[in-house]
Amino acid sequence: MTERTFSIIKPDATRRNITGKVNAVIEGAGLRIVAQRRIHMTRAQAERFYEVHKERPFFGELVDFMISAPVVVQVLQGPNAVAKYREVMGATNPAQAAEGTIRKLYAESVGENSVHGSDSEENAKLEIAQFFSETDIVG
Ligand code: ADP
Ligand code: MG
Repeated sequence: MTERTFSIIKPDATRRNITGKVNAVIEGAGLRIVAQRRIHMTRAQAERFYEVHKERPFFGELVDFMISAPVVVQVLQGPNAVAKYREVMGATNPAQAAEGTIRKLYAESVGENSVHGSDSEENAKLEIAQFFSETDIVG
């Protein structure tokens, strides 16, 4: 089933100028980038985006990281896009990520791990709506 998911290319990747390399892995996996914008997140945006993690010990560090440099927010489309992109990203901790995944290839640490991808269709819809309007998305 054709689906959409929300992706962020995180500050560690924009800082190293490897957004094109990340996009090559995304496109190589058959996911289509149907919306994309480079932004510098505000603290309020990052805190809202990661609100589910606000009680976790790494929350402050995570928000500081996400606003430390520009990010690229994206909408990806394709068959089973949510699960497919989670597979393409690899495990949260790059030490545990499978060969060929974005995090295995590029992540620097469990925190600075190059990409975000939605974990459910419901969250994908909410996350897309935080950063894009329907007219921004050209499938
Ligand atoms: P994922 O991004 O794989 O869905 P989580 O939702 O568990 O992972 O965590 C959100 C983000 O918080 C991670 O991508 C990572 O940037 C950061 N994070 C998760 N666990 C840790 C940790 N133990 N230490 C520092 N940062 C972490
Ligand atoms: Mg998550």
